[in-house]
Amino acid sequence: MRKYTLIIFVLAGLLCSFTSADSQERYDHVIKNGKIVDGTGNPWYYADIAIKGDRIVKIGMIGDVEAENVIDAEGKIVCPGFIDMHSHAERQMLRDPSVHNMITQGNTTIVGGNCGGSQLDIERFFASVEKKGSALNMGTLIGHNTIRRKVMGNAGREPTAEELEKMKEYVEKGMRDGALGFSTGLKYRPGVYSKTDEVIELAKVAAKYGGFYATHLRDEGLQLFESMDEAIKIGEEAGIPVQMSHHKAAGADMWGQTINSLKKMEKARERGIDVTTDLHPYPATFTTAAILFPAWALEGSSEEIENRLSDPAIRKRVIDGIVNNIIHDRGGNDIRNVTLAVYSSDRSLEGLNLHEILVKKGRGTTMEDAAELLIELLMSDGGASCAYHCLSMNDIVRILQHPLSMYGSDAGNAFIGVGKVHPRHYGHFPRIIANHVRDRGDLTLEYAIKKMTSFPAAKAGIRNRGMISEGKFADIVIFDYDEIQDNATFMDPHNYCDGIDYVIVNGEIVVDHGKITDKLPGKVIFGPGKK
Ligand SMILES: [Zn+2]
Repeated sequence: MRKYTLIIFVLAGLLCSFTSADSQERYDHVIKNGKIVDGTGNPWYYADIAIKGDRIVKIGMIGDVEAENVIDAEGKIVCPGFIDMHSHAERQMLRDPSVHNMITQGNTTIVGGNCGGSQLDIERFFASVEKKGSALNMGTLIGHNTIRRKVMGNAGREPTAEELEKMKEYVEKGMRDGALGFSTGLKYRPGVYSKTDEVIELAKVAAKYGGFYATHLRDEGLQLFESMDEAIKIGEEAGIPVQMSHHKAAGADMWGQTINSLKKMEKARERGIDVTTDLHPYPATFTTAAILFPAWALEGSSEEIENRLSDPAIRKRVIDGIVNNIIHDRGGNDIRNVTLAVYSSDRSLEGLNLHEILVKKGRGTTMEDAAELLIELLMSDGGASCAYHCLSMNDIVRILQHPLSMYGSDAGNAFIGVGKVHPRHYGHFPRIIANHVRDRGDLTLEYAIKKMTSFPAAKAGIRNRGMISEGKFADIVIFDYDEIQDNATFMDPHNYCDGIDYVIVNGEIVVDHGKITDKLPGKVIFGPGKK
């Protein structure tokens, strides 16, 4: 009897050792001992993560397994890679596949083509990104302004039936090529000349393919509520989810109004319209100087615009319009609030506000003088982009905290040392964690990270990213909660963040101990209409 028992023990022992050898999988990376903030909003927990190929394959206690690479994340936060819901960096990717300023802030996926501006031929664009490679994942919207400009130029009128059909065909092609949805920039040319019905017709095409509608509202200052009503109407009539981009109440007259604007979004949702929003955490906006001009002033070709401006009576009306916008809108009622940020015609003026430039040029410093200056800046070769310090921090915090907001940098191209670009190009995500979560306590880390990961993924229809979960793509950020810090400022923007130790995209390390590795594992994210 005893003999048989011994044999059984020996056999069982052999079996066990075979089984454990078999189950000892070989992983590409194992991240050990980190605090997992998984992107769902759940409280952090301790676990190890195993990555094989481009996927997270195991979460839990992972023992002494064989791995190509073991990362000890003791004391660090391990979370999904950040998804930038509102990006303009897609063109930068063609020149700079590392997208250095984005990956160094933990950004692993961008949603581009916002504010009505996208590539016209999405298929060709995706093909060139895939050929060149990219450090991060990228999806895009198809943009209204891009399409309208192609079909109607800069015409300040409604489209003919034929033109509208042509525009619908472009939206259709974009969606079939894999756009995530349709975007408008109704504050910008030529979208500013469109009526609501035109946008509804085009949004219907994107809706047919399961896309969403992202909009830079027609107005974000005094006409904010009317503009929101328009976006909600488009969502309702086209049957499409709405993303109100970079939500704000611009200009001192509007400060505090985000209480009501957020309520408006909640009310629309009660009626069954899927409205959500995004923002970045800085009290200044950044865009072309054209935004301060009345829309009619910039209609038509450059020649038509110049002719218009050379007529003294019309020029006076343009100046009055700009002054009005300086007082009530993005100027924040002081020409010192508008800083020239990117101006290729004279880089020595970059970083100076309109008042400083006028003084430097020995000119008067009235609002009218500033308006004259803005005309010169905009009409020069290369145009001009400015930072507009016109937002209230109370509004920003209110939106950051609201359950309907996710985060989007609104950042475009950033090439090291070129221009005084908005600091959001380098510091957006870490600033929210460092300033609003850690230093100010405006929201919890888990809640903030959910708004950077699973929430935008759900809105953009990106089903297999944005969470630390077995089977999901291995897009992961490892950072030090005490050390994380944005270092970009308005005057000195070209600085990377501190505290981001690792960024992993599709299972490959693109930032290692804070340094860019030049690996290009990013993938194109195709939208729901792609066949
Ligand atoms: Zn915009």
